[in-house]
Amino acid sequence: MTHPRTAICPGSFDPITVGHEEIIRRSLKFADRILVAVAHRATQAKQGMFSVEERIQMIREVFTDEPRVEAGDFTGLLVDFARDEGAHLIIRGLRAVSDFEYEFQMALMNRELCADLETVFLTPNVEHSFLSSSLVREVASLGGDVRPFVAPPVLERLRNRFATAGG
Ligand code: ADP
Repeated sequence: MTHPRTAICPGSFDPITVGHEEIIRRSLKFADRILVAVAHRATQAKQGMFSVEERIQMIREVFTDEPRVEAGDFTGLLVDFARDEGAHLIIRGLRAVSDFEYEFQMALMNRELCADLETVFLTPNVEHSFLSSSLVREVASLGGDVRPFVAPPVLERLRNRFATAGG
C-alpha cells in the first residue's frame, strides 16, 4: 500500500498572492496532498490585515479547482503540526538572497526538532520573485492596482477593504 505524500506549506498568507499560488501548484508535481497552513502567531502583537479565517477562506477560493490542496491553520510548533498531519515535507518559497538566511535557519531548526522532516525550497518565476504579501497590502492600501499580483477572490476582498484597489 502506498501512502499519500502530504506536504505542508506554512506561512502568513496575508493575503495569498500569485507567488504563493505558483509555489503550491508546482509542489503538486511531487506531493499528493498539500496542506496550506496559516500560522496563528499568538505571541505577535501585530494582527495582520486579514483574520486567519479570512486568509484560509481566500486560499480555499483560489484552489477550488484543486482538491489536493487544503487550507487550515496551526498554532505552536510546525514540527508538531506536521507530525499530527502525517507530513514529512515542508514547502517554502525562495525568492531572493534576502530570504535565504531566515529560511536556512528555520530549515535547520526544524530538522533539529524533527529529524525526518525535510524542507523543500522552490523558486518562483522571475516575475513573481519580487512579490510579497506585505507589498500587496501596501500598494492596495494606497489605491494601486494589484490585479497582476493576486487571484480574483483576493482582489475582491482587497477591493472591499480599500475602495480603490485595482479600479
Ligand atoms: P512568512 O510570513 O513566514 O514570511 P509568507 O506567508 O509570506 O511567509 O510566505 C509563505 C511562504 O511562501 C514562504 O516560504 C515565502 O518565502 C513564500 N513566498 C512568499 N511570496 C512568494 C513569492 N512571490 N514567490 C515564491 N514564494 C513566495
